[in-house]
Amino acid sequence: MATRAYKSTAGLGAKPPSQTDETIGFLSRLADEADLCLVMLDERDRVIYSNAGFTKMLGYEHADARGKNLRRLLTGADLQPGQRLGADVPHQVTFREKFFTRTPDGNQIWIAAAFRRVFNADGTVRCTAGMLRDVTDSGIHAMQRVVLEKMISGSSLETLTEFICQRAEALAPDTVATILRVDEQGLLHPLAAPSLPAVYANSIDGLAIGPCVGSCGTAAFRGEPVFVADIATDPLWAPYRGVPLPPSLRACWSSPFKLNNGRVAGTFAFYFRDGRGPSELHRKIVDACVNLCALAIERQEAELHIHRLAYFDDVTGLPNRTRLFEEIDRCLARPDASSGSIALLCINVDHFKYVNDTLGHPTGDQLLSEIAKRLSHHAGPEDILGRIGGDEFVMVLPGRDVDGAVDMAERILHSLVQPITISGTTLPASASVGISIHPWHGADTNELLKNADVALSEAKHAGRGIYKVFMPEMNKRGEERVVLGAALQDSLAQGGLHLHYQPQVRIEDGQILGVEALARWNHPLLGNVPPDRFIPIAEECGLIETLGAWALDEACRQMAEWRAQGIIIPAVSVNLSPLHFRNEGLADTIAEVLRKHHLAPHMLTLEITEGVMMDDGPTATNMLKAIHALGVGLSMDDFGTGYSSLSGLATMPFSELKIDRAFINRIETDAGTLAIVTAVIRIGQSLGMIVVAEGVETAAQHAILKKLGCHVAQGYFPGRPMDVEALSEWLRNRTPSPDTPAAA
Ligand code: C2E
Ligand code: MG
Ligand code: MG
Repeated sequence: MATRAYKSTAGLGAKPPSQTDETIGFLSRLADEADLCLVMLDERDRVIYSNAGFTKMLGYEHADARGKNLRRLLTGADLQPGQRLGADVPHQVTFREKFFTRTPDGNQIWIAAAFRRVFNADGTVRCTAGMLRDVTDSGIHAMQRVVLEKMISGSSLETLTEFICQRAEALAPDTVATILRVDEQGLLHPLAAPSLPAVYANSIDGLAIGPCVGSCGTAAFRGEPVFVADIATDPLWAPYRGVPLPPSLRACWSSPFKLNNGRVAGTFAFYFRDGRGPSELHRKIVDACVNLCALAIERQEAELHIHRLAYFDDVTGLPNRTRLFEEIDRCLARPDASSGSIALLCINVDHFKYVNDTLGHPTGDQLLSEIAKRLSHHAGPEDILGRIGGDEFVMVLPGRDVDGAVDMAERILHSLVQPITISGTTLPASASVGISIHPWHGADTNELLKNADVALSEAKHAGRGIYKVFMPEMNKRGEERVVLGAALQDSLAQGGLHLHYQPQVRIEDGQILGVEALARWNHPLLGNVPPDRFIPIAEECGLIETLGAWALDEACRQMAEWRAQGIIIPAVSVNLSPLHFRNEGLADTIAEVLRKHHLAPHMLTLEITEGVMMDDGPTATNMLKAIHALGVGLSMDDFGTGYSSLSGLATMPFSELKIDRAFINRIETDAGTLAIVTAVIRIGQSLGMIVVAEGVETAAQHAILKKLGCHVAQGYFPGRPMDVEALSEWLRNRTPSPDTPAAA
């Protein structure tokens, strides 16, 4: 191609057109119409031809561009104007270059150019043809793509934001980029400022956003971009002039970014060395960057949320089972673990299910959360606390032995003495605690937990609200329970159990009102096993239903027999375990037994402990109502030893209330107990219930109860539990005077 300066579209010179000129003119018009930016340079890179695309993209008319060195034209005098294009590849025919340029109207763009040189015979450059492209958007897209790839590959938020700043600065030369995070309390935390000294980041960490907190704090506060043209004089920066920014940075443009929920999560800022303000390029970059930052933070928050769900308990905020096990494993693996002891406490909230079922899950959750707070209060910084199940917490105390563990258990139990009030309802809280100590009670997490659980079972069996330290005998007792369970199953199948009957007499006149059927087990090898021992085993081994069905049938059969013999015993009471109430067919079974033995429903009373309400609230209530509807009496046994729920008493269809013998035992000697018994009798009376005093052993107790207006006495004083023969004897021998001790 010739070195003469062709004019764009305006024509190709004054000479009559030759065929070559015509061809060139045609090509030139074609080049003008194509969406291409073409330029032709002379041997010193001065523009000799430029097409319409050149003018459109860069803003220079051909007349302005002609004769000017292309690099100088595009990048300004400050950027080594003398340097030739492709200086690093002087002998190459084709080469590529990338420019950052500022157009006459102040726009900034990135250009990717492909050049082709024509050489003279002596090897010097004759001319160069170039094709230019605006690659600003593709540069931003490339940044977005790389950031997204990094996000997918799991780069940390810090790595991502640092990268975003670096790429933003590379895309917008002469700027400094920073990214700050705004936490939920509205405090600023630097995430990335790779071109600023660390002191800058430190100096703004923890600043609260507000209406006049530099560019970023204000932008975050307003939720919209803020441009400060002169940091040195702008009032927004007045309180922060001490922030150690390089003096060359004059202006700052900060843009907030928001999460999906609308919360401002941070700011992206460009610092400039001049006060001209953001260009179109800056706006494009910031648009891309704020989206990337919001996405990166959202991803991190989602990850944290998933982590919390996976490792923390939603209700209490404590570590969950998975996390707790990991922490205990780590604690046991520490080098100092072998030299000292580590205590593990299993803490079980007593009767939690009752609260959940009667007062609802939200109240149950609040109760757990409050208990968790109280437990956390006692846990030291080295201690580990977590929730491993519905109502079970675990606390691990590194460096603590039995004494330390017991001390902690006592403090925990004491802290639960204070009732917990939830939405106006005051709930008595208590817990049972099982303790195991590393290394004596277990080498690893599982063994320690298993043994603490064994100790916890013992604490529960012993009446709850207490702690027990694991002892190897407990395991033995566990094994014993298995042996007893097997023997009980055999005895039940072979009719090896029988019932004793204990009279219940009216205090006023000594009239017999009924008998309570009490199971007895005399095993050929194990001897006499008391019910307090075998009933819990029957419950644990799943035999309690069989036992209950047997006791119910046997007691009713005996009642029918007495009636057939003309022995007048108005009613028989049969004890049922709370576990029976999980069987939805219970009411039908009872009706069937009554039918079978031709007994009227009022001849049968069922005794149930408060556990029935605690273990299975709503189901139990429905079941009690169904049984009541049959006309069968319902008696609340051992009142005062469990939850002593007055609301339970008032809402459930109980016809009888039995005051536990532990109270009657102390009625003569303890004024407080007397007051309680008096109150319970009054409550029973006011609810229209028959009040039975259990364990009446002395005439004095009997007299006090009579004075208090208690209806019925049951105990060794009126009559011990007896087999059928002894009871007949007792009935024959007794004089119907109320104050005469039993004949048996
Ligand atoms: P319970 O239902 O409260 O029965 C009363 C217990 O008090 C009986 O103990 C009885 O022997 C004892 N007792 C009665 N009068 C006195 C007294 O004056 N002084 C003292 N110290 N004790 C007295 P027992 O027979 O050992 O039964 C213990 C518990 O075992 C019963 O307490 C009941 O909860 C349970 N139980 C007994 N038989 C059955 C049964 O067939 N099924 C179920 N599910 N539980 C049963
Ligand atoms: Mg009973
Ligand atoms: Mg009782």
